[in-house]
Amino acid sequence: MSLLGKFQAFADLRDELLSHGTLPFGVVTEKILSPTEGIVHGRKTILAGTNNYLGLTFDADAVKAGQRALAEEGTGTTGSRMANGTYAGHLALEKEIAEFFNRRHALVFTTGFSATMGMVCALAGRDDVLLIDADCHASIYDGCRLSGAEILRFRHNDVADLEKRLRRLGERAANTLVVTEGLYSMLGDQAPLEAMVEVKDRYGACLLLDEAHSMGVFGNRGRGLAEALDVEDEVDFVVGTFSKSLGSIGGFCVSNRPELELSRFAARSYIFTASPTPSIVASTRVTLQRVAEGQELRAQLWENSRRLYAGLTEAGFRLGPEPGPVVAVFVDCQETAIAWWHDLLENGVYVNLVMPPATPSTSCLLRCSISAAHTPEQVGHIVDRFAALLAEPQATGAAVTKAG
Ligand code: PMP
Repeated sequence: MSLLGKFQAFADLRDELLSHGTLPFGVVTEKILSPTEGIVHGRKTILAGTNNYLGLTFDADAVKAGQRALAEEGTGTTGSRMANGTYAGHLALEKEIAEFFNRRHALVFTTGFSATMGMVCALAGRDDVLLIDADCHASIYDGCRLSGAEILRFRHNDVADLEKRLRRLGERAANTLVVTEGLYSMLGDQAPLEAMVEVKDRYGACLLLDEAHSMGVFGNRGRGLAEALDVEDEVDFVVGTFSKSLGSIGGFCVSNRPELELSRFAARSYIFTASPTPSIVASTRVTLQRVAEGQELRAQLWENSRRLYAGLTEAGFRLGPEPGPVVAVFVDCQETAIAWWHDLLENGVYVNLVMPPATPSTSCLLRCSISAAHTPEQVGHIVDRFAALLAEPQATGAAVTKAG
């Protein structure tokens, strides 16, 4: 195959998707109205496929802080954290993130992707082992490839398989970084962290936990699944993002280990990319406060999540294993999934269409994500539009079966 020949597969996929109407990927929000509503295809649409779990993207104080920083500090830093791109705001944010997590050290990165990828390959090198959950995010996989370490996978959320692999590693377990996520973004399932930390401690391995989707969502203070399960002391490194519950962009790693501080010299995605803009840093510092004080928002988020999960279950859909802010609807037939996705959008509901290999199973997913900012009426509308898919299968033009 020629250098560019491999793009033909993408062209074929795009043409096939276009034959159903508009492209379901890269949908344009023509106007954003609020954390939960936008204009899509000229129509007011409920946004049920974002990661805006606490609905903080329009927080008035965060917007104001961002505007002030923009006016006072300019549009960008034009350089990396290691060169000219560390301002007082970056250090203040690191201090606040460390305090929030009760950890001694924090590093702020430009995106969550670069935090995760950078930390995985800063921590593990050629003589080490990376033992990762098979369903880990692309940023973890990419970090693994760049690290030069031996890469092993354990079956998703399977503690017995994790244990078996650590046992087989023998003395090399002490050179092993186990990587897992808290809340998984596709199926909305949660890692069995209590059992995992017990196993990794028994074998003397280190654990890096990606709380990208769990921060703000779990725990009394919103520190994530490790807080909720009371295992924070056993988690060596936590990485996460500002682009979900915190409603901005950027990433971080926190730890009590002094090696985190030294990772400033080792994480290439920290050293060789421009730092977050002053306005982003300023907004994030405000939304971090909101997350810390966000017990009511979290309660609302969970109420909305349970309502959506119960409504879709009652309507007859097959869903991810447990209620939570990510509610994944399994649809076995790709044609049906695409037709349903279009039908929902035409009826004012945007969800994420996810197709294999981006899904952890062979089914397609209509991935819904819920926000504390969704109103009961909006949640009701989402459920009603899904229920209508099963009630009027002919409307989609696709042969459908109940529960996909
Ligand atoms: N880790 C996980 C588990 C994620 O789901 C994501 C983004 N979806 C990232 C890291 C990267 O975060 P960001 O989009 O903020 O770069």
